[in-house]
Amino acid sequence: MKIVQARWFHKGRISPIRLIVVHDMEMAEKPTTAESCALMFASMSRQASAHVCVDSDSAVRCVKDADTAWAAPGANADGLQMELAGFARQTRAEWLDEYGQDLLAQAAAVAASWCKTHKIPVRKLSQAELKAGKKGFTSHADVSAVYKRSDHSDPGSGFPWDVFLECVRQYLADEDDGDDEPEVPKWTRRLTWPPTTKGDDVLTWQRQMRKRGWAITVDGWYSENDEKICMAFQREKGIPATGAVDERTWRAAWTAPITP
Ligand SMILES: [Zn+2]
Repeated sequence: MKIVQARWFHKGRISPIRLIVVHDMEMAEKPTTAESCALMFASMSRQASAHVCVDSDSAVRCVKDADTAWAAPGANADGLQMELAGFARQTRAEWLDEYGQDLLAQAAAVAASWCKTHKIPVRKLSQAELKAGKKGFTSHADVSAVYKRSDHSDPGSGFPWDVFLECVRQYLADEDDGDDEPEVPKWTRRLTWPPTTKGDDVLTWQRQMRKRGWAITVDGWYSENDEKICMAFQREKGIPATGAVDERTWRAAWTAPITP
């Protein structure tokens, strides 16, 4: 993402991030509107900024997530601010024209990465939920209505929240398909010999080691032979060879690449 640092912002945060606040710029829909808005934030005397400006073909970063942008009084401390090219007076159909669809896709990609990084759920908050401190998406209009410190109504009543949030969900789903993290069963205790450890967790570990190709007996008893296999596995993975299945050794049985 291009970076054009905004002039006005606070370094750091005084509250954890919980909101994605959607704005529009009140600037005409052009392929360069994000760049224009960012340049304005970089130089203007009016004390305002946003984290990211978006148009139909790009997004420009103006304030770091870790810093506080000045965009929606009441929701600046705990908000990520996104400015979209266009006008609050736009109808739903105007937001969903060709330019609008490209813009929403660009914006959704940014929002999806924010949802992932800051664990923000993909949902539009009601004003009551916003007031109650819930995490999610909101509009400058709702921030104005709840905190009564500005009178902006962007991005307007025609903004297609359903389409936008569905697009965010799509990005998150696509990403999940990409890098499938293996599901690691919960590690609860060290498996050791001696004395012989018995239990379902031993079974789970033995099954997994068998799956990885180790000649291990799947019987739920952590025996001397299991200790030997464990040590060999630990050496192979660069884990201290203690012969006990500690949390790191347990995790590695699911996450470490299998050595041919
Ligand atoms: Zn706004």
